[in-house]
Amino acid sequence: MENVSSILVKNGYVLTMNPQRQIIPDGAVYVEGSEIVDVGKTSDLQSHRAELVIDAGNMVVMPGLIDTHVHLAQALIRGCADDVSLVDWLKNYVWVLQGNFTHEDGRVSAELCMAEMIRTGTTSFIECMIHTRYGFDGIAKAVETAGMRGALSKIIMDSTGYADSADIMYPGMVEDAQACLDETETMYSRWHGKADGRIQVWYGLRSLGAVTPDLFKEVVHQVRAKGTHMTMHLGEVVDDVRYVRDNHDMNLSDFAESMGLLGSDMVFAHGIHFEEDELRKLAQSNSNIAHCPASNMKLASGFAKIPQMLEIGVPVSLGCDGGPSNNTYDMVREMRLAALIHKSYVSDPLVVTAEQTIEMATLGGAVAMGIADKVGSLEPGKLADIILIDLGGLSLTPASNPVSNLVYSGSGDAVDTVIVNGRLLMHEKQLLTLDEEQVKAKAITHATEIIDRSGVDISSKWPTS
Ligand SMILES: [Zn+2]
Repeated sequence: MENVSSILVKNGYVLTMNPQRQIIPDGAVYVEGSEIVDVGKTSDLQSHRAELVIDAGNMVVMPGLIDTHVHLAQALIRGCADDVSLVDWLKNYVWVLQGNFTHEDGRVSAELCMAEMIRTGTTSFIECMIHTRYGFDGIAKAVETAGMRGALSKIIMDSTGYADSADIMYPGMVEDAQACLDETETMYSRWHGKADGRIQVWYGLRSLGAVTPDLFKEVVHQVRAKGTHMTMHLGEVVDDVRYVRDNHDMNLSDFAESMGLLGSDMVFAHGIHFEEDELRKLAQSNSNIAHCPASNMKLASGFAKIPQMLEIGVPVSLGCDGGPSNNTYDMVREMRLAALIHKSYVSDPLVVTAEQTIEMATLGGAVAMGIADKVGSLEPGKLADIILIDLGGLSLTPASNPVSNLVYSGSGDAVDTVIVNGRLLMHEKQLLTLDEEQVKAKAITHATEIIDRSGVDISSKWPTS
């Protein structure tokens, strides 16, 4: 069932996300191989003889969601670092747990994360930094098998600081510059463009304080020589602003520019602490922002200036971040938060509309991944990355305005079917490329082992007997 030569999805409420943002009630999408061939009214597409016909009655049919800031390895440590401050969160929990990972843990975590992403409608993602100890090869193989589209970034670092805190990194998380670059080179030649073109290999610059100017410049040189992309946490914490001011006498955007980091091949995760007068530089250089509202609220990192960014044309997409910062990988829920939090923060209910939010989660993600010509909308000639969302649940009824319901009343639990590259990854809520029960069982075993090995205390604050 998962590999069929042609699929007709019919009777759906089709959000095309084409340049006119056309919506087609009683709509259909016809797929041959990995490509969308036809989009239109069901009555006009009925004549296509498809090997598989999917009735999408009372469902939204839309482009797959694109998560542009994911830590695959953090799915296994979900719930292990809650209600603590960011540096404490990193230093005493996340780094210690992740610094005890084996390659097998890395693969199991990636499978758990992808199972959740597929189940909740995500078809493509950017993994922001794969440490050598997570096992890049195992993770890439897992992506190949799961059937998702992924940009896998190898972590790049040469110092042990974080923002303006020097030398605080857990020893198990430290890597050497040359080893980082060598592994990226090897993984790039082994995996970039592989798995039917679904896998990209990127450079995942760790953060300010963890990368020296020489290494920034070397990475920028290698990225541009290869024509690949890079991603980096920037402006997640206000300490980043202090770091560039104290060390380079610059603001964040001037520093990024001086290192050559600005451009359409860069995805900055978070980007909270850019000042308003810096945003123009991001817009002019087409530098992408991966906005992560759940993570930013949970870690009290602040509010990114998303309304202003959208206003002046900064490319913005959405990210769920990780298991201990979100704590889910559900992009539908992330859309809800993205649409809600800015209204309250700037006291204006008109900012970040439902429509803009869906644009960020689809087209914005495709731009960030550098594949806007291939995915992000349902149009003939584009790759068939399509999701079906069931509007029949109580929280979505009545679906008088499915666009509004999707953003303000939806959750990933309503996703029914997921197609990537013309291949079914989930149908009628059954995962087809991953064994859900096995993934969960392995995740529980490996999570317990990591917690034991690391010695991190994750017990409840309440007395447990
Ligand atoms: Zn992150």
